[in-house]
Amino acid sequence: MNIILLGPPGAGKGTQAQRLVERHGMRQLSTGDMLRAAVKAGTPVGLQAKAVMERGELVSDDIVSALIGEELDGMGAGVGAIFDGYPRTEAQAASLDGILAARGRSLDHVIELAVDEDALVERITGRYTCATCGKGYHDKFEQPKLPGVCDKCNGTEFKRRPDDNEETVRTRMAEYRAKTAPILPGYEARGIVARVNGMAEMDHVTAAIERIVAK
Ligand code: AMP
Repeated sequence: MNIILLGPPGAGKGTQAQRLVERHGMRQLSTGDMLRAAVKAGTPVGLQAKAVMERGELVSDDIVSALIGEELDGMGAGVGAIFDGYPRTEAQAASLDGILAARGRSLDHVIELAVDEDALVERITGRYTCATCGKGYHDKFEQPKLPGVCDKCNGTEFKRRPDDNEETVRTRMAEYRAKTAPILPGYEARGIVARVNGMAEMDHVTAAIERIVAK
């Protein structure tokens, strides 16, 4: 199975992708994570992407589509893919069709996480992750049970994304509205879009997604 999780920054794509990975052994393909890894490693792609990401703008279509193709090539044919944060433009959506077809894959579902944009700024600016295992937390909505200690791996170091500040978040949302939302009608015409209320409690969102992927 190959699915796209679509929604503005902070809609919960990463959290829901991780849950699908745990439940179904699928693989999360997050271009944001791949780019952050490239920035950290100082690769040529990372050097090119760093400033663009800090501004909250979009990295070039060719770079992210190449990353997705490479990642898929490293996966077993029977392993399902969850696209998280990709595609983000009409050009990327067209590339993805070609990338999948070349590997004997096709899209099963595009799951849109519908959210209220005003709530997103609070969600995003409060979020942080365990530096060791990547588990996500939030200043207001989900603190570790023992303060300063990760529930999952007992790690004690946490990190925040440099682009999770209000100004950059506003740019990222504007990019979503202008460039990413327009890819939905094309998928709707193919009858593969399912909309989920991303403002519901996380477990309810997960349950709704489970019902879609069980179809
Ligand atoms: P994300 O982790 O998905 O919020 O992505 C963080 C940042 O990485 C975005 O604000 C963009 O600068 C860049 N990025 C991630 N995925 C893409 C993509 N598919 N196309 C262009 N830029 C991307």
